[in-house]
Amino acid sequence: MSRQLGEKIAWTAVAIAGFAFFAWLYREPCGPFPDSLSSPYVLPYAVGSSHSVLQSSCTTETHRGALKYSYDFSMPVGTTVTAARGGVVAEVRADFRDDQRGAEESNVVRVKHADGTIGSYVHLTQRGALVKAGDAVAAGQAIGVSGNTGNTSKWPHLHFHVRRCANCQTVPVSFRNTEPHADRLDAGGDYFARPYDSQSYEP
Ligand SMILES: [Zn+2]
Repeated sequence: MSRQLGEKIAWTAVAIAGFAFFAWLYREPCGPFPDSLSSPYVLPYAVGSSHSVLQSSCTTETHRGALKYSYDFSMPVGTTVTAARGGVVAEVRADFRDDQRGAEESNVVRVKHADGTIGSYVHLTQRGALVKAGDAVAAGQAIGVSGNTGNTSKWPHLHFHVRRCANCQTVPVSFRNTEPHADRLDAGGDYFARPYDSQSYEP
């Protein structure tokens, strides 16, 4: 190898390492996530059932920007969706068909919690709302039926996120009724919904 070529390779390596370092330095932070054991949230499906995380929080796919702290739980159409936290139903949309793919064509139930945050349960099936606006709901109460409406990339799943207001940045969420986690749920991980005591968390 000529000396010139060797130097070229060395400088290329330095450039790549430098780029990787700055990409790491300026990476978008993810979290911190609240302690799962004291989280006010439980998994949004029935105790005793298990679902895998199709897409976790902080991805380069659709859980970025304002929707960064979202979760997609793989779920066959027709699965009962339960409230992850008690509150009052703020909005219900259930008219879209399961083959409608528009970004704004998701059926949804939104629940406003006592601290003002709003939980959204998205992609529900047509007529898949079991509550109406103004209803008070408790954690674990059946509020909807999962579906495949809106921007689901054709995979039936439940998209769940929490915001402090209608269009704010989503906030990191953990769930107290599954295996303890200090960080986001793992993509591909299967999460079993354990029984829990709702009394100590909700007014
Ligand atoms: Zn999603």
